[in-house]
Amino acid sequence: MHDFTGQSVLVTGAAAGIGFGIAEAFHQAGARVALGDVDERGLAAAAERLGRSSRIFTQTVDVRDAASVGTLFRAAESAIGPPAIAVANAGIYPNCPVVEMSVDEWDRVMETNLRGVFLTCQAAARGMVARGGGKIITIASGAASSGRKGAAHYCASKAGVVMFTKVLAMELGPHHVNVNCIAPGLVTVDRDVTQVSDEYVKTLVGTIPWGRAGTPADIARAALFLASPEADFITGDVMAVDGGSGTGRTYLPYSRTT
Ligand code: NAD
Repeated sequence: MHDFTGQSVLVTGAAAGIGFGIAEAFHQAGARVALGDVDERGLAAAAERLGRSSRIFTQTVDVRDAASVGTLFRAAESAIGPPAIAVANAGIYPNCPVVEMSVDEWDRVMETNLRGVFLTCQAAARGMVARGGGKIITIASGAASSGRKGAAHYCASKAGVVMFTKVLAMELGPHHVNVNCIAPGLVTVDRDVTQVSDEYVKTLVGTIPWGRAGTPADIARAALFLASPEADFITGDVMAVDGGSGTGRTYLPYSRTT
């Protein structure tokens, strides 16, 4: 694993779940880490879990709001130095059929998952372009390329994240800023923010070739790789970290009759 000592990393949605796992992994790898999240109490608990380390900085942020994202980046820069690595992870995944969906719910998902990624990446990119390099990682989902009921807003937002990532990678290549996307499959998290039913989890796990759900650490290892010099020539990529769930119709049995 690459040693990130001396580097500053910023992660949104870092109070819980995958974002916390990514922040924790970078911290363990020696980095200084800024954790941004809308959940103030969650951030305090996250800092506690990381042992109140001097290499940790926390700041509340609502990724839907440009001013709030600007404040996060400025505060992080003063506290731990300009982020050389930024992970746009904050996201929500409520579930509702289209015919019942409120406009508010549609907007909340698009604003958090897509506008939030745009604002986070834009703030990160501006600093990195000025400094001549950096690494940006977005978090999409298998839902970007595979639909599921109740997730029209979520799937649309994550498909948007994938295309946003590719275009940004094109624009930032000449500035030596890598922009890549991780598309996790099902990942076990505390689910304090977005609830999912046991039946959904059980059914989905049954279709994962690897035979288990992912963990935040699985996603974090991919993030550390993409942020490392080993991945310098990888940009605009969408890396599935999903135990094989994105390979195809994994629910089908063999068709042979004998
Ligand atoms: P989570 O609910 O455990 O954590 C999300 C964090 O984001 C929370 O701490 C929450 O407070 C924060 N957040 C929500 N809205 C915010 C906002 N407006 N501004 C700042 N922070 C905000 O979720 P998770 O499962 O860890 O998901 C993290 C990312 O991974 C999301 O983008 C999600 O879509 C994606 N993802 C998750 C899974 C999964 O199975 N868990 C699978 C694929 C993709």
